[in-house]
Amino acid sequence: MALKVLTVVGVRPQFIKAAAVSRALREHGGIQEILVHTGQHFDQAMSGVFFEELELPSPAYNLEVNSVSHGAMTGRMLEKLEGVMMRERPDWVLVYGDTNSTVAGALAAAKLHIPVAHVEAGTRSYNRRMAEEINRVVADHVSSLLLCPTQTAVTNLAREGITAGVHHVGDVMYDVAKAAVAKAEARSRILEELQLSRGTYAVATVHRAENTDDPERFARVMAWLSQQGERSPIVMPVHPRTRKLMDSLGLVPKGTRLIEPLGYLDMAWLTHNAAAVFTDSGGLQKEAYFHRVPCVTLRNDTECVETIEAGWNRLWTVADYQPRQEITDIGDGSSSRKVAELLVAPDF
Ligand code: UDP
Repeated sequence: MALKVLTVVGVRPQFIKAAAVSRALREHGGIQEILVHTGQHFDQAMSGVFFEELELPSPAYNLEVNSVSHGAMTGRMLEKLEGVMMRERPDWVLVYGDTNSTVAGALAAAKLHIPVAHVEAGTRSYNRRMAEEINRVVADHVSSLLLCPTQTAVTNLAREGITAGVHHVGDVMYDVAKAAVAKAEARSRILEELQLSRGTYAVATVHRAENTDDPERFARVMAWLSQQGERSPIVMPVHPRTRKLMDSLGLVPKGTRLIEPLGYLDMAWLTHNAAAVFTDSGGLQKEAYFHRVPCVTLRNDTECVETIEAGWNRLWTVADYQPRQEITDIGDGSSSRKVAELLVAPDF
């Protein structure tokens, strides 16, 4: 009988990570994956395009929970996921990262005594005012298999008393980024479409609640981008939440070209060829390093501490980068395969 893995995804970065792991599960053999989409990100630009481009199978269930507050969203997901899990009775529930979909999937499974595997376990910003930090901590504390992207994540878990079932597998996002470069080079026309040449522009994204919830803070971020935009052009794929805010406040940073959210390959190619990345995204901070592009993080703290320590990333509150070096523990592009192997033969 095949091992049954129920994967819960709901937002853009989870579709990207799950695409790599889902492929590894198929290649491993002997594993049946049931993909559940919570519906947190739901339209073509934020969801559909990733399923198509990254060949992620269509979800077996779409729970269509979105556009409500944190509590309501997590509650509705919990209820619906519990129903799906009771019907499917999987051997594992697999969750990714740090969103409401992550915490709802982990909690629903743990209460049904279904073991939880958490990809990107152990990352910490140590700022509990960030919803993502709460989601990470809760998911890690109810998980049986903690699949850590770096050694720092392993150490963070040990500090919280979690040592059983902890594995340093490397970063599955690196698997995706590595595989995307050659594909994007052949297929992406984004530089031609935007009439950009390599190394002459910066890429910016802003969407985190800590920047978009407070109009005064958002105005400061836009003013910072304006200063940069006066020096060299910025391309900004705009998250729907940010677009609404920019429209209502009438704020567009100088020198900045606003574009619709991109598919993964175009985004990878745009980042790969950029001179700099300015972002509050967790994923993009890491991808800037994968593509060896310096990053400024538009937040006061980050869970991607390795990129800061290695000098490829700095917080906007800090003037200088650390001396630049390589990060040796993100893996070699085979982290997704390790996840598949550990689900089949967990080593507790
Ligand atoms: N991304 C994308 N298109 C865009 C903006 C981002 O494909 O227009 C990708 C980006 O390359 C990264 C992921 O989305 O892989 C990051 O997701 P997001 O910033 O939404 O979430 P976070 O990483 O902050 O959780």
